[in-house]
Amino acid sequence: VRNPNFKEEDVKKVVESKPAVFVEVYRTEEIQMARLKLPILAEEQQIMEIINENSVIILAGETGSGKTTQVPQFLYEAGYALNRMIAITEPRRVAAISMSKRVGEEMNLSSDEVSYLIRFEGNVTEKTKLKFMTDGVLLKEIQSDFMLTKYSVVILDEAHERSVYTDILIGFLSRIVPLRMKRNDPLKLIIMSATLRLEDFTENRRLFKNTPPVIKVEARQYPVTIHFNKRTQPNYLREVYRKTVKIHTTLPEGGILIFVTGQQEVKTLVRKLQRSFPLGKAKYSSVQSVEKDSDEEKDEELGDVLRKKKRQKKLKLVENVDMDDFSIPGDHEDPDVEEEDLEDDDENDEVVVKKGQPLWVLPLYSLLPSYKQANVFKKPPEGCRLCVVSTNVAETSLTIPDIKYVVDTGKTKVKLYDKVTGVSSYFVNWTSKASADQRAGRAGRTGPGHCYRLYSSAVFNDTFEKFSVPEIKEKPVDDLYLQLKCMGIDKVVNFPFPTVPDLVQLKTAESRLETLGALENSKVTPLGRAISKFPVLPRFGKMLALSHQQNLLPYTICMVAALSMQEVLLETPIGHVDPQGLKDVRQKWRAIRRQWAGVGNSLMLGDPMVLLKAVGAAEFANSEGRLERFCDDNGLRHKALVEIRKLRIQLTNEIKMNLPETDVGVDPKLKPPTDIQAKLLRQILLSGMGDQVAKKVMMEELKEDEDKAKYKYAYRANNMEEPVFLHQGSVLKGSLPEFVIYQEIYETNKMYMRGVTVIEPEWLAKYVPHLCNLGEPLTDPEPRYDSISGKVFCTKTGSFGTQAWPLPNVEV
Ligand code: ADP
Ligand code: MG
Repeated sequence: VRNPNFKEEDVKKVVESKPAVFVEVYRTEEIQMARLKLPILAEEQQIMEIINENSVIILAGETGSGKTTQVPQFLYEAGYALNRMIAITEPRRVAAISMSKRVGEEMNLSSDEVSYLIRFEGNVTEKTKLKFMTDGVLLKEIQSDFMLTKYSVVILDEAHERSVYTDILIGFLSRIVPLRMKRNDPLKLIIMSATLRLEDFTENRRLFKNTPPVIKVEARQYPVTIHFNKRTQPNYLREVYRKTVKIHTTLPEGGILIFVTGQQEVKTLVRKLQRSFPLGKAKYSSVQSVEKDSDEEKDEELGDVLRKKKRQKKLKLVENVDMDDFSIPGDHEDPDVEEEDLEDDDENDEVVVKKGQPLWVLPLYSLLPSYKQANVFKKPPEGCRLCVVSTNVAETSLTIPDIKYVVDTGKTKVKLYDKVTGVSSYFVNWTSKASADQRAGRAGRTGPGHCYRLYSSAVFNDTFEKFSVPEIKEKPVDDLYLQLKCMGIDKVVNFPFPTVPDLVQLKTAESRLETLGALENSKVTPLGRAISKFPVLPRFGKMLALSHQQNLLPYTICMVAALSMQEVLLETPIGHVDPQGLKDVRQKWRAIRRQWAGVGNSLMLGDPMVLLKAVGAAEFANSEGRLERFCDDNGLRHKALVEIRKLRIQLTNEIKMNLPETDVGVDPKLKPPTDIQAKLLRQILLSGMGDQVAKKVMMEELKEDEDKAKYKYAYRANNMEEPVFLHQGSVLKGSLPEFVIYQEIYETNKMYMRGVTVIEPEWLAKYVPHLCNLGEPLTDPEPRYDSISGKVFCTKTGSFGTQAWPLPNVEV
């Protein structure tokens, strides 16, 4: 909505001379009142002056001060979106979506103008002025338009989270901004962050020659009293429940915000609390209750604590609580509450609360649909206390109003990768001091608050790291490395990273890319270029590039989409099932998967084949409008299948764009591959995963001192010492083939291979030549002249990989 008095031809003049506010926005009174409460509003003029006068600005302010919602509006009103767009990046998809909605609402503009774009979806139009997107999306855009000519301003939000893509974007933008300046077409870079470790950006001379100005925005913050537990209880879920019950039943009114580590924990705790404190007259509508768990996370993602066997011991809550922890005087009364184990979901074991107000319990985690997330911003029903159970989404990305009590488990869930082998494992670890302080700060937004830390001050002081480690230090960087190479960064080590990855990470990435054939002598090959175009891991990109030649694209696209998705096949059913029922369901699902795998080459294609069939069958069910039911019956995660479909469409379109003459479509009725096709698919998988070969351990190969029991059914992976195993859930579990490739190794009680396919050792020399050591040509049989190719072939002996597995004689 523009100011009617403003003339188009004056725009440029005004932009150059500044500082008049000249694009008017019409806001509702309610919104305007809410905005006026934010301290950042009073500083608009000062902030805009600094932005107008500098090309790189750091804006630091506590969560909730209004950075994300207000700064884009300031820029819009100052005319920055008149000719070009304003980009705002978020590390989390949920933030990109919910913030674009919120800002659109505040400004009274439609989603055509305030839009979002994330990997699979978006609502950007030609009219878009403010574009919220994930950081990965903007990085891809740099690949095709290095100068980011569509934008007048780039705002990198939540920079303190130090996501890999945000880090890389800062590096690129530190170069793009001066280049745009030279062209007389300035681009502004605004780095927004909580007030954490700003020196990584300001004092890093590789990034910015001169320290960029730092604007600090004050947030109204009331004092928060921190209460440490005297002892650190090992079962934090039990403890968090206990503490919440105690707060709710004994302390004055005020919202409660609880931090746990994952979606599964959120759901369990929400259910538990909802049952313990029923609402009476107020009811959760279908929107507000916990959604049916269509996307349970796996056991192994839950950390040890959840897996521990249920303990039946019941404790009188009041006997087990340090009264010191609840230091508000005059409100101690013994609650008539019994405490129990959180895992126990039996109806009979409900905690009975005889008195007290109802509790309005809401879940919050990043995969929760955004209309459900929005509930935490609404007022709870009359007479109810608000209680939000959240993952660390509520730490900085979203601000929940009226929180007075924070209960902090101090835990966070991390996926750890071994830098060399790429083995991943989930585990629950202590968060950092900085995060714990962020969490505590959530209690002081509207008045003085209290934060209950379920760990001792000794643990906090001695065990917690000061800051969380930037993500780039903890992940394999293969795709990043290839992308940087393709963008002409020859020496990746010299790229202006805010935090440089370890040398060993970079070396491993380089050698894996050489193995794939994406790099040769450190230069990108044409194959490497093709690979980098796909929004999937390089190894999958290679499979796509190769299958083009074999007319197998629809299958490979489908497999790659399914393999890229976390947890498509469920291990355990959703909801509560008795132990016998559980066993039955698991058996039924295994039988279905075994049937999907088929026989011959199809069976040897293994777990990826099961995924292919699952997707095909699900598409069919979808065409008949019964997808959800089908997923429930067959142990598939509904949300994963929806995402696989999106990724299939995206990959297909991308391939069509790069290879215009190809005729691939997302055929819902993908026929199962023939036996020959299945064999070719096994070879294509090998071409992408040739560094992830494992061979069955033969008992007679074992050294004297090695424990035979430890190696029963074991495999040895090419680049690892420890034995690895086929998982119970693999369709190949029963057959113990000699050579396999796997998609991933993950560690729980043992090392397990995920996504396993059988290969023939004679294929290795052809598909993974880099890792084969071939000997001298054999004199017998004689070299052979091939009249078709005009080549001379000779037979050689050879071995494969670091373990020097002997290969059958190969012809080269
Ligand atoms: P920051 O980015 O500095 O953390 P935000 O701009 O996200 O701050 O939030 C500013 C204020 O806007 C907060 O008080 C928050 O509660 C409010 N807010 C943000 N999103 C919504 C929403 N969807 N509904 C209602 N209030 C919101
Ligand atoms: Mg924000």
